[in-house]
Amino acid sequence: MEYSLQEYYSAIDDNIKTVRDNIAESAIKAGRDPADVRLMAVTKTVDINRINHALAQGIDLIGENRVQELLEKNDGFVPSDVEKHLIGHLQSNKVAKILPFVSLIESADSVGICAEISKRAAAIGKTQDVLIELNIAGEESKTGLQPEMLDDLLAEVSRMSNIRVRGIMGVPPICEDEITVRRYFSKLHQIFVDKSSQKTDNIRMEILSMGMSGDYAWAVAEGATEVRVGSAIFGIRRY
Ligand SMILES: *Cc1c(COP(=O)(O)O)cnc(C)c1O
Repeated sequence: MEYSLQEYYSAIDDNIKTVRDNIAESAIKAGRDPADVRLMAVTKTVDINRINHALAQGIDLIGENRVQELLEKNDGFVPSDVEKHLIGHLQSNKVAKILPFVSLIESADSVGICAEISKRAAAIGKTQDVLIELNIAGEESKTGLQPEMLDDLLAEVSRMSNIRVRGIMGVPPICEDEITVRRYFSKLHQIFVDKSSQKTDNIRMEILSMGMSGDYAWAVAEGATEVRVGSAIFGIRRY
C-alpha cells in the first residue's frame, strides 16, 4: 500500500509520540528520569522533507550512517544547526570531509581512526568529540572495538590533542530474546560506569548510546543516555 505524504507525516508524528512515551515509561519503571535519555532520530535513507517534518515535531538530534549521505543532505536541514552525529563505520579517508559537519562521531573504534580524527580536527582548529564503539558480543561481522582493548585505546587517546572521548556506543546482536539483549546492554553499562571513574582531560564518560527500534526500551532500562531510533519513527527503510 502506498501512503500519501500527509498520511506519512501523521504516522511520523504518532511514532515519535509512541517512542517518547515508551522511553518515559521504561525510564520511570527503572527509577530513572526520562529527561536523562536523549532520543536520536536515525535518518539514513530518509529524504530531507520527512527529516524536516520530524525536526518540526521537536526532534533535535539526528544520526546518519554514511558520510556521503550526510553531506548530500546537509544543506537542507531546517533548522540548519540541528545536532548531527555520525553513527556508521568511518574510514580514514573520509575523516577530513565529515569533521566540519558533525558534533559527535559515535563510531570511533580503533587507535588509528582516533589518531586521524585528532590530526584532521587540529588542522581545522576543532576538538572533535567521539564515542568509542564497542563490539560487545565479539561478532566477527561487526565493526567496533573489542572491549578488552578499551583501556589501551583510552591510554593512547589521552595523549592526543584534538579529540575528546564522551562515552560509549554499542549495537548488540539483533533478533535475540529480551534476557540476552539486556545482558549485552548491561555489560555496556558496566563498562561505561567503570570507565567513568577514570577521568582525564579528554576522556569523560557522559554518553551511553545504545538501543534501536527493536530494543530501545530495554536499553533505557539498562542505563542508556541516548537511543538511536530509525524505523520506529520513519517506517521500514527502502534502500
Ligand atoms: C540504522 C541504525 C540505527 C537505527 O536502526 P533502527 O532499527 O531502524 O532503529 C541505529 N544505530 C545504528 C548504528 C544504525 O546503523
